[in-house]
Amino acid sequence: MILLDQALEKSRNLFSDGEFITKLSSLVSLVTDSKNSMSNDDLTNYYSKGLLGILVELGIQTKIIDNPIKNCPPFLIGTRIESSKLKTMLLYGHGDTVPLQEGQWNDGICPNELKIIGEKIYGRGVADNKGQHLINLLALRSVLKTRKKLGFNLKVIFEMGEEIGSPGLFELCEQHKDYLKSDVLIASDGPRVAIDVPTLFLGSRGAINFELEVKYREGAHHSGNWGGRFKRSWSQVVTCVERNCG
Ligand SMILES: [Zn+2]
Repeated sequence: MILLDQALEKSRNLFSDGEFITKLSSLVSLVTDSKNSMSNDDLTNYYSKGLLGILVELGIQTKIIDNPIKNCPPFLIGTRIESSKLKTMLLYGHGDTVPLQEGQWNDGICPNELKIIGEKIYGRGVADNKGQHLINLLALRSVLKTRKKLGFNLKVIFEMGEEIGSPGLFELCEQHKDYLKSDVLIASDGPRVAIDVPTLFLGSRGAINFELEVKYREGAHHSGNWGGRFKRSWSQVVTCVERNCG
């Protein structure tokens, strides 16, 4: 069996032998609601109790960096350098979540206790962003276990404030730009185009910020997951701008 097949089989086994669910369950059990956290220590626990084990397995040297903005949650950054001649991947993830909204989940689901119903896995952070970065880290571990090396350098950056606007992320990247310098950024965050369609966006390299108010639904809905028609009109706006049609 070639190495790629072996690595893929190792990754598949993570689901069949239950390791993925066990690990995800322990990440979800750590309450990391950045809007309502009592202290930054609550959030930083996610680094030590949630991520450190697998980062060590990946041979990543990590450090916790204070947020450049006072009283905002610290960052975790780390590197595994195999050779200065190799390309470097930077992996991004956020460990914080939106509020738990206890009592508002179907079927008596407790948001910080993982629950599998049918083919779906429920728990706060499963789809944003604990599930995604766990998948990425475990996939990298499968490669490492198979090849005994990655074949590229790996850098990571994790934050605990994405759901409150990523305070200090820009400043941190500016201050540590040499440390974080990479050839590709892998940031698995945001929704898929449909629940059963794996989705890969390429070339997301910048943003233009503007404010647009649309009264579309009652209450708070995540625009990425519940955008519906609004998302379509946004793509029409982009198309229009690209075609210069005003
Ligand atoms: Zn997210």
